[in-house]
Order: sequence, then C-alpha cells, then structure tokens
Amino acid sequence: MKKHTIFLMLILGIYLISCNSKTQNQKQKTVCDSLEISASEHLVDATLWFQKSAEMRALYYQCYNYAKIALDKQLKKQKEKTKNVVILDIDETVLDNSPYQSMLIKKGLSYTSETWKEWTKLAKAKALPGSVEFTNYAKSKGCEIFYVSNRDIDEKDATIKNMNNENFPFADEKHIYLRVNKESSKIPRFKQIAKDYQILLFVGDNLRDFDEIFANRSNNYGFNVVDSLKNKFGDKFILLPNPMYGEWEKAIYGGAYPNEKEKNKLRKKALQSF
Ligand SMILES: [Mg+2]
Repeated sequence: MKKHTIFLMLILGIYLISCNSKTQNQKQKTVCDSLEISASEHLVDATLWFQKSAEMRALYYQCYNYAKIALDKQLKKQKEKTKNVVILDIDETVLDNSPYQSMLIKKGLSYTSETWKEWTKLAKAKALPGSVEFTNYAKSKGCEIFYVSNRDIDEKDATIKNMNNENFPFADEKHIYLRVNKESSKIPRFKQIAKDYQILLFVGDNLRDFDEIFANRSNNYGFNVVDSLKNKFGDKFILLPNPMYGEWEKAIYGGAYPNEKEKNKLRKKALQSF
C-alpha cells in the first residue's frame, strides 16, 4: 500500500471516531435536555436522610438530651417562683411529617396547603425521637408546655388528636397555639404566653420558632444574625435539623417561591464550588 493511501485512511479513521463521539455527546445532551424535572425530586436525599439515617435519630436525641440540661440551667437561674413554660414548635420539632414529603416525591407534586391538610387530617404523624421524653421531663420539673405552630387553626382538632395519640403532655386546646389569619410571625403568640408565664426555653427546627429577628435572610443568608446571637443556641434556643424545607430554602430563592424550573436554577446557582 502506498504511503499516501495509508495516510488518507488514518485521517478517515480519526474523522469517523470524532463523528461517533460527537453523536454520543449530542445524544446524551438531548436526553438531559428532555428530562423533565420532577417538582419534588430535590427532596429525595433530604427525606431519605430524615427517614433512614441513624444519624438523624442520634441528632434528635442529642438535641433533646441537651434541651434537658439547658432547662435545668434556666431553672437554676430563677430567683423567684414563677409559672414556667417551655415553647416548642410542632412540625419537624415534635411530629415527623416526612411521609408527606415522600408523597410529594412519589407523585411529582409541590407543596400545597390542600395536600398538606389531607395529611394532617389523618393525625398519623409519629413523635420525633426524644420529644415525648423531653416534654414529660419539662412537665416533671413543674413547667407547662405550649406548642406554637404555623399549622392553620382548622387543623387544631386533628393536631390535638395526633399529639395525644403520641403521648405528648399538655396536648390540649389551651396549650396548642396555631396560626390565625395567615399570620406567620409567632411573636404575638409568644407575647400572649409571656403575660402569664416565664418562657424558659424555645425548641424548633426553624430559627423563626425563636425570634422574628431571623426572618430576614436577604443579607448573607442570615448568617450574621446567627453569629451575633451564637451564645443563645443551647442556652435559650434548641434547634433541631430539618434538611427538607424551611426558611433557609426561601433564602436560596431570594425570599420568594418561584416556579419549579426557576427554583432548580437558583438552587444550582447558590451552590458554592471550587
Ligand atoms: Mg417546624
């Protein structure tokens, strides 16, 4: 075979390989482009972690064990006898609603208050690890418990039933404060309780379960406010982990909830890489 024929065959070979690889890449790209993003696909890992990781259980125990120590410290600090109270949030603080997140993932749905209320109406949420023990411990120390939650007032009966089924103390009409008129700030309810009680401790999975100072995350995701109050955590505030949803997520979307495609874009944009 002549030299120039071999050379031509070599060029042809390289060209064919490159064409094949281009076709593969294009195919791959077409598949990726055509993938529809399921509305709740991003919740898979967080929900699995919440439901299936032993670390999650350990972390809840750790927080509630520490809540007992923090409560004892607060009680020791008291100089005069007062009516004491511990305030806890409900969802992802004492009750586990992760089956609702799983339903969203499996059906490819986003959160709506209608589907949420279908879930809470069942009154089937399980108590989170350590929560029943802690609330009973606080009761044994002479504290009353108030549950301040942003569930709507029309969820009250089912919530009381659910919490009684799970053996929470003070799960009654008087001690469960739900949201009225879509008012998401808990401050007016805290103030109402503070008229008659000394609030010793707050327990929640969202910083707004403690104070509205944490509501605005427009500056550095709210990190600076948390840093400025770091001594309050483990002292007056006990925070539980919730990787599934919360105020932190809204901060990633710039303080609003856009459509799913836009949310997906903003989640990727917020990721810090190298
Ligand atoms: Mg909560």
